[in-house]
This record gives sequence, C-alpha cells and structure tokens, in this order.
Amino acid sequence: MDLRVRDNILSITPYSPGKPLEELEREYGIRDSVKLASNENPLGPSPKAVSAMTQALKGLHRYPDGSGYYLVRKLAEKLKVSPENIILGNGSDEILSMLTQVFLDRGDEAIMPEPSFLMYDIVVRCAGAKPICVPLKDLAIDLAAMAKQVTDNTRMIFLTHPNNPTGTIITDGDFERFMADIPAQTMVVIDEAYIEFARAANRLDSLAYFREDRSLTILRTFSKAYGLAGLRIGYGIMPGEIAAVINRIRMPFNANTLAQAGAIGALEDRAYLEQSLRLVHDELDYMSKTLGELGVRCYPTQANFFLIDVGRDADVVFDQMLRRGVIVRSMVSYGYPEYIRVSVGLHEENVRFLGALREVI
Ligand SMILES: *Cc1c(COP(=O)(O)O)cnc(C)c1O
Repeated sequence: MDLRVRDNILSITPYSPGKPLEELEREYGIRDSVKLASNENPLGPSPKAVSAMTQALKGLHRYPDGSGYYLVRKLAEKLKVSPENIILGNGSDEILSMLTQVFLDRGDEAIMPEPSFLMYDIVVRCAGAKPICVPLKDLAIDLAAMAKQVTDNTRMIFLTHPNNPTGTIITDGDFERFMADIPAQTMVVIDEAYIEFARAANRLDSLAYFREDRSLTILRTFSKAYGLAGLRIGYGIMPGEIAAVINRIRMPFNANTLAQAGAIGALEDRAYLEQSLRLVHDELDYMSKTLGELGVRCYPTQANFFLIDVGRDADVVFDQMLRRGVIVRSMVSYGYPEYIRVSVGLHEENVRFLGALREVI
C-alpha cells in the first residue's frame, strides 16, 4: 500500500505495555505470580470506588457527563483552584497527548529528562516536534542542565515529580531558580503521577506555583496511589486560558461514566488512601533494610517503586525472576543495564520477591 505515513510518526518506537499476567503464566508454566512491574496499588481499588461504580452501572445506556461536573468540582475544591482550571483525561497520558497536539508544531522543541516516562517522547514526536533529552544527574532531574537547553524553539518542558523510574524529587529551591530562567512562551508540565507517596519535606509544592498568568500545567492521576489504573482517569491543573484551548480538541466523553464515578468514590475514601500510603512506606522500609542485610544496593525513593543494582545483566535477572513467578522491570532499555525497578507490593508479595532475588543473585 502507498500509506504515506508522516515521517514523525515513523520515528516513534511503540510503547511496550508488557504481556498480560495470564499470558506470562501460561508461557512460563507458573502460577500465582506476583506483579511488581507497573507501580500499581497492590491493595486493589477502594471499596468506596467500587461501590460508586456499581451504582453507576445502571446508567450506562446514557452518554457520560461530558463536562465531568461533579468530579471536576470535587477536585477543584480539594486543590483550591477553580473548576475552569481542571481538565479530565482518559488517564493523564491523554492530557499529555492533548497538550502536545495543541501547543507543539513542526520544528518546535520539547525538553525532557532521560530516563523518565516514555510517553513524553511519543507524544512530542506525534505532534511533529523534536524531543530534547537531558540526562539525569545522580538519578535526579538536572534542572540547571535542562534550563541550559532552552532555545527560541523550546515550547515545552516536562518534569516528572517524583521521577519514574528513579523515584527522585525536585526541591522547592531548585524549582524556583529554574522557573526564573524559563521564558514565558515555554510551557512547563509537571507530571505528578506519584506525588501522594512523596515524604521529603523539601519537595516542590507545585500547586504553590500555579498562577492564571503562568504557562504551568500539573498532571495527576488516579492510576497509582488511588488504585484505579485499569479505569483510565487522570487530570490536569492549568490556567483557564490553556484549559479553554485544550477543550477545543478534547473528545467530549473522554472521561467515561464509570471513571468519573470511581474517581469520586476514591476521593471520598481518605482511609483507603492513608492505608495505601502507610503500606508503601512500611514496606519500602522493610525491603530496603532486608536488601541492605543481603548486601544488595538499592536507591532511596519518594515513590511506590525503587531501583535495585543487581550487579549483572538486568534482562537476565528479569527472566530468572519471572521463572520464579515474580515480575519486575528491567532497566536495560532505560540505560541502566544492571538495575531493576520494583514496585512495592503487599507484604507477602514483597517477601516472595526478596526470596526470589536472593536465589537469583
Ligand atoms: C503511571 C504514570 C502516569 C500515569 O498514567 P495514567 O495515564 O494516568 O495511568 C503518568 N506519568 C508517569 C511518570 C507515570 O509513571
């Protein structure tokens, strides 16, 4: 066929989501495997979210509320912004995609940390713009180096806070200095998919920088701490002027009925969120202590996952862990040939992980 696919689309490496658990189990002849690969909440969804969604099932013959009225209001109230500042997305992934479609053009540049979230590269290329990757420094985002890459063509800068896959934060002081160097026509996008887990006192308080007249967008999601990854619901906090432009291209029913109901239920379940954070923090302490006793190096984190230096080919370790029914993420394709990334699971799952790792290394 003579498809004439745009060059920028052909330059994209497809995102590899990994095989479903059931498929891996069949392939490797294993059962009861433990998945610690995608930074999900191991507790399952909040019971309040489940009950809100069960209620909403009866209304599924109707189209969703295209404005997300109740969810948007609830978020605005919680975050102390106006409802006009909130855009809902089919996951925060979709907001990334809408932002780049609207604001990037051919020849524009978008600066991003590397390694970080793989979607930035994809959405920037999709818009025909050029990704400019800036290496991390000591596993953290190097704001000074990123600011140095700004040119007249820079239209967007992505910051991941805490960063995936390294779990590092941006400090408030560093961010303030950074913003002073960024020209007004450059949008700063702070992706805070894991912000709920962060404990460091000096971490950036992104909402404190939010202003109607500043090109700054904050992305958050229900996929991680709120345990609703399969539902696909996230949101952006942005100046009303930016949100109004995004609304021109937003599909009217991008946040579906169940997603809106589930997200509202999750926001109302404070106890579930607290339990989730406590589990992650307690288990992180337990896992890093045990790894230390084994003489295995792991890195501090402000998220619900962390990096481990396995001291050998991480792809091989990934495969050997998989054979023992434990799924982790190899960091080879992220540029860390001897690191794996492990999400915090339930205590029993973490015990299994530690047992398998002890055998493997
Ligand atoms: C998981 C993740 C997201 C969230 O994606 P959703 O589309 O909301 O599920 C966004 N950014 C980063 C860095 C992530 O790790």
